[in-house]
Amino acid sequence: MARLTAPIYEVFCSVQGEGPLLGVCQVFIRFRGCDLTCRYCDTPAARAVCGPCHVQQVPGSEEFTRCDNPLSVEALRGLVEELVTTRGETCHSISLTGGEPLLYPDFVAALSERLHQAGHKVYLETAGHLAQALNAVINNIDWVAMDFKLPSTMVEPVPAVVFGEFLQVAQQTNCFVKIVLTDSVTTKELLEACRIITQVDRDTLVVLQPVTPVGDCRPPDSATLLQWQQLCSELLDDVRIIPQCHRILQVK
Ligand code: SF4
Repeated sequence: MARLTAPIYEVFCSVQGEGPLLGVCQVFIRFRGCDLTCRYCDTPAARAVCGPCHVQQVPGSEEFTRCDNPLSVEALRGLVEELVTTRGETCHSISLTGGEPLLYPDFVAALSERLHQAGHKVYLETAGHLAQALNAVINNIDWVAMDFKLPSTMVEPVPAVVFGEFLQVAQQTNCFVKIVLTDSVTTKELLEACRIITQVDRDTLVVLQPVTPVGDCRPPDSATLLQWQQLCSELLDDVRIIPQCHRILQVK
């Protein structure tokens, strides 16, 4: 039977802080739970499946209330609509983020369909390793923002071919690939990722995102970044260096 509830960490309105849609206004639904182990994880609290859902009261404010998990599709859509209504016509889309939204494919499929029926666009932010789950939801997804996680950035690495399989499915809609770069990344693993992306579609937009410092993770120096962009651009048609902008903007 379809699972039509899911644990949610928070619901809030802010601006997209990464990638090609940087700066557009979105309502974010952050799912609880994650099966990966990124060294640079900046949302460790959302990895816990248990706990309440934090709901922002006014777009952009620090005022949050709590509600019990798990939430139904309709309950969650109601929370989204309250923020969208307060924000007005300028809300660009609804971002499904995490944690990992694709741990709940039945729920994401139903939620995305409902959001579309209500006239919203849906933007899925995912770690990029659950191709079968993506295939089950993609009919109602307008953008897929997928990660390609390099082995050195993970405690338990995911085989690179897994991200290639995911990208193949993501081709059905608008998609781009984000690669987070730390000063531990090697040129070899980065170019291996680019080769796999090229085998799917060399036109894929690839965002090289220097890590926002967290724990022991530090970004590469700027000379290395520029060199990597040049090397990646020999394999791919559209490679851009775009850092996270949440902290600069001082928003969530
Ligand atoms: S996939 Fe996201 S939530 Fe999971 S460990 Fe990585 S950064 Fe954290």
